Amino acid sequence: MKTELKVDGLTAGPGEKVKGFVLFDESAAGIQVQAPVFLINGAHEGPTLVVTSGVHGDDLNTIPMTWRIAEQIDAGQLRGQVIAIPVVNPLAFEAGTHLTPADNDTPSVPGNAHGTISERIGHNLYHKIVVKADYLIDMHGGSKRSTLAALAGIDGAAPDGIVKRSYDMAEAFNTDLIIVMQPKGEGPPKAMFQIASRNGAPSLIIGMGRMGFNAEDTERGTRGVLNVLKRLKMLDGEPELRVTPRETGSELYHYTPYGGSFFPTVEAAQEVGEGDVLGIVYDVFGDEIGRVTAQTNGMVAAIRFYPVISAGEWVASVARL
Ligand SMILES: [Zn+2]
Repeated sequence: MKTELKVDGLTAGPGEKVKGFVLFDESAAGIQVQAPVFLINGAHEGPTLVVTSGVHGDDLNTIPMTWRIAEQIDAGQLRGQVIAIPVVNPLAFEAGTHLTPADNDTPSVPGNAHGTISERIGHNLYHKIVVKADYLIDMHGGSKRSTLAALAGIDGAAPDGIVKRSYDMAEAFNTDLIIVMQPKGEGPPKAMFQIASRNGAPSLIIGMGRMGFNAEDTERGTRGVLNVLKRLKMLDGEPELRVTPRETGSELYHYTPYGGSFFPTVEAAQEVGEGDVLGIVYDVFGDEIGRVTAQTNGMVAAIRFYPVISAGEWVASVARL
């Protein structure tokens, strides 16, 4: 017997689609942070997929992807439930910043009910929504920081069965690049897709496209999530696959030794060879200061978008193929 889907004060009956706000924080002064949420409760039994976007306030292109997903899923046909959040971090979204302005951080799960604002948002996101996930897709987009190849990251340190099922989801999403991520440094993982994977929910972190709304990214991201729903048999039909993804186990981050204005000379998803110029740095008179060159062969996973840089800043990531 199909039951109601409830998150906070929102309820969707079987075969229903509901939208509304979920409380993500209430400050000491009583200011409430509410995130918009779509609940799509399929008419038929099945698993729960959680889709998050707008974790970073300038990952704007992910937001219309989530709108279109919510619009295009027919609750009458759906097997299972989809919970989709277009803007996880309303504070950064309003401020136009990548990170939460008050603490310069990213909402992380499982968070902390008594921690910083980002930790409190993460705590509510986790306990109200992420714990319901059988599958999870965390959507990130082109930001002020960088333009991205279409990429799907999975947690390579999750149990084997979860890695394999996450990889299946990544193939169905049909990105240019699949990154099997290994844990960085010591301590427990804090990224949502890693935590969900370790909890037994196959998960993806998606990155794609350029900052701002545009039809191309919207279409690709929407198709990707619908493809995953088909692969998981939550919707009828076969995934529509248009590219053959390349796989990587590591990315090499490139930093500029020069401050100035960075002009990229490569595009995201372009394959480069060691020694190729990734970008040129100019001074304020337009004279060339120096060039940043690729230290490895591979695919450009990310390239700096906002041109003004200081020496030592990150400008590109090249995925080793
Ligand atoms: Zn992001």
